[in-house]
Amino acid sequence: MLRARVEPAWLLRSHPVRALATAAPRSAPAAALVSPRPDPLAAGPDPRTRARSRIRERDRTSPPPSVSPALTDSYGRKHDYLRISLTEKCNLRCTYCMPESGVPLLPPDHLLTTDEVERTARLFVQHGVRKIRLTGGEPTIRKDIVDVVERLGRLPLDSLGMTSNGLALPRKLPALVRAGLTHLNLSLDTLDPLKYELMTRRRGFERVMHCLELAQDLKREGLRTKLNVVVIRGLNDMEVPQFVELTRDRDITIRFIEYMPFEDNRWSTQKLVPSASLLSTLASLHLPGTITKLADAASDTTRAYRVEGYKGSFGFISSMTDHFCGTCSRLRVGADGGVKVCLFGPPVLSLRALLRSPTTSDADLMASVGRAVWGKQYAHNGLGGASGIKERGRMGPMVGIGG
Ligand code: SAM
Ligand code: SF4
Repeated sequence: MLRARVEPAWLLRSHPVRALATAAPRSAPAAALVSPRPDPLAAGPDPRTRARSRIRERDRTSPPPSVSPALTDSYGRKHDYLRISLTEKCNLRCTYCMPESGVPLLPPDHLLTTDEVERTARLFVQHGVRKIRLTGGEPTIRKDIVDVVERLGRLPLDSLGMTSNGLALPRKLPALVRAGLTHLNLSLDTLDPLKYELMTRRRGFERVMHCLELAQDLKREGLRTKLNVVVIRGLNDMEVPQFVELTRDRDITIRFIEYMPFEDNRWSTQKLVPSASLLSTLASLHLPGTITKLADAASDTTRAYRVEGYKGSFGFISSMTDHFCGTCSRLRVGADGGVKVCLFGPPVLSLRALLRSPTTSDADLMASVGRAVWGKQYAHNGLGGASGIKERGRMGPMVGIGG
């Protein structure tokens, strides 16, 4: 049964957002804030050469990470960021992620063991990976999650992050931070408890809010937290100004993610809200010139902004309308050891088989990874944008991917 709407105390403490959301739009130079990344594959006879030269140019202005050839693709992109999915299980059923019945689960012996996860991470780090993010499914469901973080926390990394829905996290979070967790991306798509149940098909809004407060407190221990919001037209897009108001008094980063098509996830072009249109709406609600663009690092997938005088910031992950494939530095290992070189492509290598073969050395294993990385396509796994992904994509459900 749905519960009555409860405004979280910290939201009530903040600016009266509804007044803002309904205020008469003021003009603002939104278009000036939006400048899509150029797509080198858009036209012309030799896209590969142009893509490579653009990447070389980018590397001249912003030095690329130092990684081994095994983690460099044929376009010259260097991959220093590894996402590891720890499980495909989840305690929510977000409508944009999976069907109500969930996804078929792996036989237990197909899951990488903690030793295998550690060996994989160590090898990638030896070849230049500096950032690892744990994801899933819901990574906190894995019973040995603190042990996993502790082991990876011993590696020479710049950051060890986790993406979580926050439901089972509060009890574990202090131990995870002590074990070495440096970054947390918390997923929360609505500030309305009723809508939360609608979107996740489960209860838990208050627990996630509690988790967010706890994570904010753990900033003292070095934890950096971001909020992830998947935006869906007609469902939660009207809440975007309200989310931005959370950044008024809190040093928090909120990222609005474009809805991406995956297997069985109800995606349609009509439900996709381009980031540029969200930014225009926000610009119309604030005084001209008060939304400023923040500097993005070369490999950032987020375009970040701040409202003048606000403590926090917000940003857009525009994977569909303004992709960042040219600067992609990510590789993914699924819970079963499948290596994906692109979010929108199928696994191209099974690490599990190699990790379990007594005759495969570390060098053999990384040689296989190198061949897989070299074969990475320039953008969207060569599917040519949202419709192609929807029609021809073979990426499976999001939870098998390590989102
Ligand atoms: N269960 C964890 C969570 O929800 O944070 C981690 C796994 S989840 C697959 C990783 C991220 O992918 C979440 O921030 C989620 O909101 C996002 N995500 C899932 N399905 C998506 C979709 N169709 N489009 C865009 N982002 C999506
Ligand atoms: Fe679970 Fe995360 Fe998918 Fe939601 S987005 S169903 S929390 S894996």
